[in-house]
Amino acid sequence: MDPGEYETCTYCNRSIFPDVAECPYCGHYTDGKGRFGLGAEGERRIPRVFLIAGWLVVLALALPLLITVWNWLKSR
Ligand SMILES: [Zn+2]
Repeated sequence: MDPGEYETCTYCNRSIFPDVAECPYCGHYTDGKGRFGLGAEGERRIPRVFLIAGWLVVLALALPLLITVWNWLKSR
């Protein structure tokens, strides 16, 4: 089987003919929106709480450095 002649169903990840509108295995339309498709990244989005926690860590690391630089500038 030449993989170049087939597409992969984005719902069941099986090889299908590229010009079929519906996957013969799972019956989904071949619109590229399944969990094996490119749109799957949207479901694996980083939750906002992790982004906030990440920023807090960055601030906690940067703040002592900023205070040190500020004190050094003031002492000159
Ligand atoms: Zn399928």
